[in-house]
Amino acid sequence: MSIHNVSKQFGALTVLDNVSLDIAPGSVTAILGPSGSGKSTLLRTINHLERVDGGFIAIDGELIGYRQHDDALYELKEPDILRQRADVGMVFQNFNLFPHLTVLENIIEAPQAVRGQPREQAEALARELLARVGLADKANAFPRQLSGGQQQRVAIARALALQPKVLLFDEPTSALDPELVGEVLDVIRELANSGATLLVVTHEIGFAREVADRVVFMEHGRIVESGTPAQVLGQPQHSRTREFLAKVL
Ligand code: ATP
Ligand code: MG
Repeated sequence: MSIHNVSKQFGALTVLDNVSLDIAPGSVTAILGPSGSGKSTLLRTINHLERVDGGFIAIDGELIGYRQHDDALYELKEPDILRQRADVGMVFQNFNLFPHLTVLENIIEAPQAVRGQPREQAEALARELLARVGLADKANAFPRQLSGGQQQRVAIARALALQPKVLLFDEPTSALDPELVGEVLDVIRELANSGATLLVVTHEIGFAREVADRVVFMEHGRIVESGTPAQVLGQPQHSRTREFLAKVL
């Protein structure tokens, strides 16, 4: 995936300012930065939840939201937007499960609706994914019957059910009680080890150091610094990165 000179304004406020980032297949990128630095907005542009005002994002060479033809750009129509969105899994801070659906129904909804999978096939994959996140016995539970950590693991299984090319995590453990953080990070670590392409906004510095191939520090809508965890977390070059790390470590 390639993010190229992306900018985004909300009124007079520049929220993303020429952000460029190349995400190699199978890599894990951790994004750090203070509140309001544009981390969520960046993830949201990748998943069509926000439109970029400048620059572009491409996955497998295909522009997100646009189609190139004869040197001109055309906006994609709804079916193409849905198809592209299905290639990008997103896991939010607050799980965002459908409260009126069981765990299994939460997971099979999109594969059936978006990918047109028959129910049996969607259900077989859902059960496989539930086993993978350690929740094989919770298929018929409702979200309110689960702990936050379990709900977040269901949300991860739901995102995986569309077999996305890239998975975006927006502070996936920030809403969890401290004792539940580990079980969710374990699942994300397992995904990383299995070769998934992950973009993770997180304040879990230890996790970033251990799992990420690349750490990106953002502030005021810009990438201030990026590099290996050893570089950015161990020997930050910019005073803003150092100040931020001093606060969160
Ligand atoms: P946090 O760590 O608090 O989640 P963040 O880095 O994810 O912060 P964003 O949510 O991307 O930051 O927000 C970046 C800036 O854009 C903030 O100043 C925010 O107030 C502003 N912003 C975000 N969404 C909108 C919107 N829909 N309309 C107007 N301003 C917005
Ligand atoms: Mg955010």
